[in-house]
Amino acid sequence: MHPRRVALLALASTAAALQAPRQPTTAQQRQPTTTRRVATLEPPTTKKPLRLKLTSPEPTNDFVKPDGTLDVIPFSAQAEYELKPRQRVIGLAYISTLCTIVASSRIPAFFRLLGLQYAAFSAFEYCFHRWCMHSTYGTWRDKIFSRWNRLHVQHHLDTNPDMTMVEGYNWKGIRFNYLTSRLSVVIGSSVSYLLVKALRLDLPFWPTPIVSWLLAMYHGVLWNKLHTDSHDLQETLTWFDGVKYVRNIPTGNRYARWLLTNHIGHHAIDGKGNYNIVFPGPDHLAGTFYQLKT
Ligand SMILES: [Zn+2]
Ligand SMILES: [Zn+2]
Ligand SMILES: [Zn+2]
Repeated sequence: MHPRRVALLALASTAAALQAPRQPTTAQQRQPTTTRRVATLEPPTTKKPLRLKLTSPEPTNDFVKPDGTLDVIPFSAQAEYELKPRQRVIGLAYISTLCTIVASSRIPAFFRLLGLQYAAFSAFEYCFHRWCMHSTYGTWRDKIFSRWNRLHVQHHLDTNPDMTMVEGYNWKGIRFNYLTSRLSVVIGSSVSYLLVKALRLDLPFWPTPIVSWLLAMYHGVLWNKLHTDSHDLQETLTWFDGVKYVRNIPTGNRYARWLLTNHIGHHAIDGKGNYNIVFPGPDHLAGTFYQLKT
């Protein structure tokens, strides 16, 4: 017999022997077809475009941990962003909804003040982050707000492309400190008072500081949670200042994942958009909202 035929025969017989006896495979026995991604500090070898939407459940699972939270490091290493088309329509819907709430006399005063301050707070944060924290070096804005500006510019420099922080990063750039939260209560109340007077709204003053405080707390807690998580620092960060990191805030949902991807986008596009982490409305209105490339 030809030696090659012998080899083929032997191969066929071993293959047949390996096959028998055939066992029925159940669903549990089957190997998972998707390989689990391992978070690594190494940059990815190829930067392939991200072909997934957060709304499509299947491919997203690649970047979602079993508890539903976003696996930020492997995600950030691959995510690419683009300007969201027709975002001003959303921005206009956002601002007109708020205006309707504020103007409607049938809605309780508390909620009208909440709408008014929500709009003012998010607009203020947007302007502050865009034009003060990212102001050009040496300009008057840069000089006035240097305390926040330097810290924030440092924060951008300290951030690696996969959102991890360089060694010796300044932890102060990660959190919204007590001074800023306290200032936002004072500024929020004052702006609210002035707007009520200027627009001649029939609203009492007394709920104003309560609304400001609630808004500042909601923003501070969520901001510190999301910003810490977006840089994957939740295990290592020690707080000295600012609203506490609340571990129990549920982030294993689509909304939290969406907010997280927005801030990852802010770094991915070098601070050219996605200025607000918690209240992304003004970004849509100003046309600076970047979404995941699909
Ligand atoms: Zn930032
Ligand atoms: Zn950041
Ligand atoms: Zn920034």
